Amino acid sequence: MDAGDLVIGVDMGGTKVLAAAVDAEGRIAAQGRIPTQAQNGPIDVVARVARLLTEIAEQAGAPNRPLAAVAIGVPGQVDDAAGLVRHAPNLPGWTDVPFAELLRARLGGEPRVVLDNDVNLAILGEHVYGVGRGLRSMIGVYVGTGIGGGLILDGQLYEGAHAAGGEIGHTVLEHKGPTCRCGGRGCVEALASRTAMERDVRALIAAGHKSDVLKLMEKHDSPHMTSSIVHRALRDGDKVMHQVFRHAQKYVGLLCANLVNTLDPQLVLIGGGLAERLGEDMVAHIREVAYEHFFSPEARKQIRIVPTQLKADAAPLGGAWLARQRLGYKPELGAPLH
Ligand SMILES: [Zn+2]
Repeated sequence: MDAGDLVIGVDMGGTKVLAAAVDAEGRIAAQGRIPTQAQNGPIDVVARVARLLTEIAEQAGAPNRPLAAVAIGVPGQVDDAAGLVRHAPNLPGWTDVPFAELLRARLGGEPRVVLDNDVNLAILGEHVYGVGRGLRSMIGVYVGTGIGGGLILDGQLYEGAHAAGGEIGHTVLEHKGPTCRCGGRGCVEALASRTAMERDVRALIAAGHKSDVLKLMEKHDSPHMTSSIVHRALRDGDKVMHQVFRHAQKYVGLLCANLVNTLDPQLVLIGGGLAERLGEDMVAHIREVAYEHFFSPEARKQIRIVPTQLKADAAPLGGAWLARQRLGYKPELGAPLH
């Protein structure tokens, strides 16, 4: 093993797969993306992901430098030791899929395949190469279809006693609130995710409020209110969108305050498609609400709440770092975990 080994980090989302070959200093040497098309089943997805990885590896120096390791972030529960994707709600039909073995068989050359949660890889990426460099404790709050979280505490990725920690989306903020996909009620995910925002926008329109959001969805041939549609509607001054978005920001702010009061981190990072597009325009009101609910008055001076820096590159970069770490090499840059 040496620092020059070729590694690739992969973010496998519900709609697209992003992959990047990253050198030991955190520079992206080659990258690519394909649609996930999870509905075609794991065998098809594995074949196409393997092709993508082979192309990227070739651009980055294979076959002279064979691919040594790949780390893949999956939107769900994985068992890395067993090489399994246990359960992934955004990848229909993916239950107990032996993803690592399938991929290794396709790739040849026996590269190491590491599986983790996509949000864990994103927070790792930001911690090592992004806005969290040099910090000991930081929290990632990812607002998308759901709300996911990643925790780095005392320089370690914290996954809980049973690897089930970090499910911050199911923090209950309104115990009689709307039903959540987890079966509970009033989780922050059911109040402030993009899915919750879409539900609220549709309800206001159905109640007679004027909004162009449904027209935008039609125009972009999108069955759902994507981040880009939210962005466009906000920019166009759509009153319903503004009202719903502000409501969601409030709940994410309350979530941040609860997390800060419990964990006392140095930084809270807001990520996901909306934060990638809106940046400070999204975070400003979240911060305002959070600051109002901090227990310690000092925390306002000490704890930063900021948007993602690495955006869509965060998980591939974090994955590549993890892959290199699993090979036994600790990068010199960033803040290596201990
Ligand atoms: Zn829930």
